Amino acid sequence: MAERTLSIIKPDATRRNITGKIIAKLEEAGLRVIAQKRVKWSTADAEAFYAVHKERPFFADLVSFMTSGPIVMQVLEGEDAVACNREVMGATNPADAAAGTIRAEFAESIEANSVHGSDSVENAAIEIAQCFKPEELVG
Ligand code: GDP
Repeated sequence: MAERTLSIIKPDATRRNITGKIIAKLEEAGLRVIAQKRVKWSTADAEAFYAVHKERPFFADLVSFMTSGPIVMQVLEGEDAVACNREVMGATNPADAAAGTIRAEFAESIEANSVHGSDSVENAAIEIAQCFKPEELVG
């Protein structure tokens, strides 16, 4: 079924000027970018987005990393987009990511792992609404 998911190209990737290489991987996996914007998050933005992780020991580091430079937020659309994006992203820790995945090829560390992708259809809807207005999605 055609689905939508939220993707974020993280500051480690914008810093290295590899957003195009990452988008090519997403498109090759069958995903279509139907909304995209480059922004720099404030601390409050990052804390709100990652609120589910606020009890995790790495929360402060994650917020600091995600505000360290620009990010590219995207809505991706495609068949089983949530699972498809998670597959092309690869495991959280690049050391565990399958060959050919974005994180295996580009991630610097478990934290600076180049991309975010929603982990469920329910969370995708929440995250898309946090990052985009409905009229910004152009399928
Ligand atoms: P994801 O869904 O694969 O992005 O992984 P999680 O939802 O578990 O974690 C969210 C983000 O927090 C990851 O993408 C990393 O950027 C960061 N993160 C996860 N685990 C760790 C960790 O053990 N240490 C640090 N510093 N960051 C982590």
